[in-house]
Amino acid sequence: MSCDLLVVGGGIVGTSVAYFAAREGLSVTLLEKRELAFGASGRNPGFVWLHCRNPGFALEISRAGRALYPQLLEDLPEPFEFRAEGGMIYFTTPEQGAVFEEFVAARRADGVEMELIDGAAVRALAPPIRPDVLGASFSPEDAQINTPTVVRALGIGARAEGADIREGVEVTALRFDGDRVVGVATDHGDVDADRVVVCAGAWSSALLADCGVEIPVGAERLQVIALEPQPLQIGPVVYGALAAKQYTLFRHLPSWDPAAFTREYESEEGFEMLQLVAQRANGEILLGCPMDYPPSIDMRPTLHGIGVAIQSMVEDFPGLRDAAVSRVWAGALPYTTDMAPVIDEVRPGLLVAAGHVFGNAAGPMTGKIIAQMIQGREPEIDLSECRHDRVLQRTDTGLPARW
Ligand SMILES: Cc1cc2nc3c(=O)[nH]c(=O)nc-3n(C[C@H](O)[C@H](O)[C@H](O)COP(=O)(O)OP(=O)(O)OC[C@H]3O[C@@H](n4cnc5c(N)ncnc54)[C@H](O)[C@@H]3O)c2cc1C
Repeated sequence: MSCDLLVVGGGIVGTSVAYFAAREGLSVTLLEKRELAFGASGRNPGFVWLHCRNPGFALEISRAGRALYPQLLEDLPEPFEFRAEGGMIYFTTPEQGAVFEEFVAARRADGVEMELIDGAAVRALAPPIRPDVLGASFSPEDAQINTPTVVRALGIGARAEGADIREGVEVTALRFDGDRVVGVATDHGDVDADRVVVCAGAWSSALLADCGVEIPVGAERLQVIALEPQPLQIGPVVYGALAAKQYTLFRHLPSWDPAAFTREYESEEGFEMLQLVAQRANGEILLGCPMDYPPSIDMRPTLHGIGVAIQSMVEDFPGLRDAAVSRVWAGALPYTTDMAPVIDEVRPGLLVAAGHVFGNAAGPMTGKIIAQMIQGREPEIDLSECRHDRVLQRTDTGLPARW
């Protein structure tokens, strides 16, 4: 069996590559070891988050990716969930408020649409929040997807364009003739291909290392609590103040004080909270996310992690205190130490599109760009920040990675 392009991995990046490449008329095969959206794309709460994206590649691809969703809703044969109701980061103390004033001013200077809103406005946008909330940064540029529905729609769209999408097939090795990739070995036999693109998220570095390509893509574990569906009440995607320390944009502000953004149940060696809340169209409310860095990929939620999340979110969202929990889960977020993905040709015919921290905003655009590269066209976004041979630090230190 042979194809023009073989895609490894069926997350938001892999299905986007398959869809856009098939639309260009290429014969495409996508192999997913479990089922589509088994990885991070099936486990994230859906923030399309421009609020904290650094100027340059991150902001540019996120804006383009956000703008691509309405187009995909028109083009794909199956609908998916997309809501453009903005996003906010709330704060609860005057010390935090002073940092937020600087943050909003800096973001506006970067050209991001943002305003500081007061506590009453925050409560109107997210009624179950604590009554003493003081305010929030709010950006109408943020949006929300239900990521598994996007992956499913992209997979159906790729199939409609002629792609062969196979689930339950694991790529065990890349195959080369000299330096040039000629296909892959799988647990169901070999597949020949003119080109291979590795979109295996947090699993990419191990697969590539086996053939001598070093791409330090780490796996950060994030855990999520889902509440049973309830009437729609939370419009925007919501971060809490504790999430701010995850972003260099905050940490580099003159008034930054880590103590004002850290609670006693957090530690850099244990769990830090990427405090967040989002409600899906079906009414389900997702709460998160304790973050840690296990030594190998581990997608099991832990008592400690879920305990920290419950403590944090019950305190900040008392209106949800009596809601019923339906599920908990964890996922492996792929990242590099400079937070830009690797999008590059690493050997003749072998491309990598992996290490996406913010795949909801950047995933579909990555697919579009890879299709442009394969067709020999200039990618519509400058990819110099995404080269595979840039200097990156190790990701196996267990230390927090800051976005
Ligand atoms: C809990 C959580 C919250 C997050 N929140 C957000 C958010 O709100 N906004 C945002 O933008 N991003 C968020 N992220 C990050 C986002 O999920 C990722 O950026 C994105 O999903 C990466 O997509 P991907 O396709 O590269 O990887 P994945 O979705 O991980 O897909 C990789 C796929 O490759 C498959 N695979 C691996 N190895 C092989 C192999 N050898 N053969 C075949 N198949 C293989 C896997 O099974 C998997 O399905 C979050 C992540 C997590 C875990």
